[in-house]
Amino acid sequence: MDTPRPANAEEMLGRAGIDPTPLRLAVARVLAREERALPVGDILALVRDARQANKVTLYRILDLFVAKGLVRRHSSGDRAWRYCLAPVFAGRPHCHAYCVRCGRMDCLPTADGLVDVAALGPGLAMDVVAVEVRIDGVCAACRRQSSPGGRLLTPGRETHK
Ligand SMILES: [Zn+2]
Ligand SMILES: [Zn+2]
Repeated sequence: MDTPRPANAEEMLGRAGIDPTPLRLAVARVLAREERALPVGDILALVRDARQANKVTLYRILDLFVAKGLVRRHSSGDRAWRYCLAPVFAGRPHCHAYCVRCGRMDCLPTADGLVDVAALGPGLAMDVVAVEVRIDGVCAACRRQSSPGGRLLTPGRETHK
């Protein structure tokens, strides 16, 4: 049974000790809703559905969220960080799947054993703060786009003509 996600953004900010300004709440809502780790540009676009925001302010909010432990920053194959809720707020420690073509980074369900810290043995198990595992690949949407006549993804495989 997964721990349910926190009910609302106010509660999350409260737990993290962050003053709930309207924009901070909007950012927290976006991150709580998406099951993905998002680059700043995507977060900005989603936040702007609800309120006005600019990139500088958003960076400041994300830096604060990271400093307060609400959000984790993850490296990707490109140079843009991806942001998602930290395990204590997302309800589960998790790994990420990163698409090397479109840059999408999904938060993965926790597989048994992958972060089985209890396996460390009695008295040694730790509280998981973060899991830094990134699986790189090509997502289903990008695979569909590569028609038989399109660009080959797998070097060495022949096209059928
Ligand atoms: Zn993709
Ligand atoms: Zn994540």
